[in-house]
Amino acid sequence: MSNDKPLAETYIVYTTDTTTGETRSLRTDFEFHEGSDYFWREGNGSCDCNRGAWFDGRKRPCGEGRFRVRCIDDAGTVLYEDAEDSA
Ligand SMILES: [Zn+2]
Repeated sequence: MSNDKPLAETYIVYTTDTTTGETRSLRTDFEFHEGSDYFWREGNGSCDCNRGAWFDGRKRPCGEGRFRVRCIDDAGTVLYEDAEDSA
């Protein structure tokens, strides 16, 4: 039997556009599980093209650093947060 119980059934992603300072939040319809940290840190969720689409539905060029992400569960626990000086 698999033991990869999700850390959260759903969570809220706070995305900040560093060019405007605007932050938007969106509730996921997917779980935060073991691989989610990698997804946001290194995977598809780390790229500005996907983060921009997540932010307001608009496509952005690929890159890193424009959008910052913070994931929080319903108990207020931070599941993932970009490193302060991630390059
Ligand atoms: Zn991309």
